[in-house]
Amino acid sequence: MTEQTKNSLHQPYHQVLDRIRRAEANCNRAPGSTQLLAVSKTRSADEIGLLADLGQRLFGENYLQEALTKIALLQDRDLEWHFIGRIQSNKTRQIAENFHWVHSVASLKHATRLSDQRPQHLSPLNICLQVNTSGEKSKDGHNEHELAELLDAYTALPNIQVRGLMTIPAPAEDKSAQHYPFQQLRRLRDRLCNKDVPLITLSMGMSDDLESAIEEGATLVRIGTAIFGPRQYNQ
Ligand SMILES: *Cc1c(COP(=O)(O)O)cnc(C)c1O
Repeated sequence: MTEQTKNSLHQPYHQVLDRIRRAEANCNRAPGSTQLLAVSKTRSADEIGLLADLGQRLFGENYLQEALTKIALLQDRDLEWHFIGRIQSNKTRQIAENFHWVHSVASLKHATRLSDQRPQHLSPLNICLQVNTSGEKSKDGHNEHELAELLDAYTALPNIQVRGLMTIPAPAEDKSAQHYPFQQLRRLRDRLCNKDVPLITLSMGMSDDLESAIEEGATLVRIGTAIFGPRQYNQ
């Protein structure tokens, strides 16, 4: 066995990469047009290091304190950190100081704080605006109408760059139900984007529905369980 295949994450990681490549091929998308964000919440810095040894660079975290510990431990690695959890106002400074991307921006107030608090020596913070495609009350995210109204205000903020849209749909019963929210997000993007605000990123798709998301145009899928196995506590 090579060092790579001895790595316990080698097989599940390559299975996920294969699923992504097959889904891209099935809908005639260019190989490599979907980025993989490895969702590492609840995983140790050692596990993240193992995945980084296999070539993974993008990692997604939901819980700030847990993330900061791991970011510090892994600072010598060239990793890109994405915050994908619920944002609390009193945590925006640490998010602005420590992450490259935030996918879960669902309030102009939070975005304004992130912009104000982004350190000047860093490039603008990349953000995705979260859209609540399933209309669940328990979930953050703008509806389509709000987003159309607020987009200019978001894009005017100086130290953030609006890169695209993100959604976390409700669990779906079947394949066609899986497609619907992803299709909605893509259509919304197509309606709202323009040459000044291209909204290239569509952050959608998780372990159970990445194929549907890629078929609907995801440019980034957020995958935890299919790489690392089931989480020890329910997130
Ligand atoms: C946990 C989480 C994921 C990963 O989900 P899996 O089903 O484990 O792949 C993706 N996106 C968000 C926002 C998450 O919180």
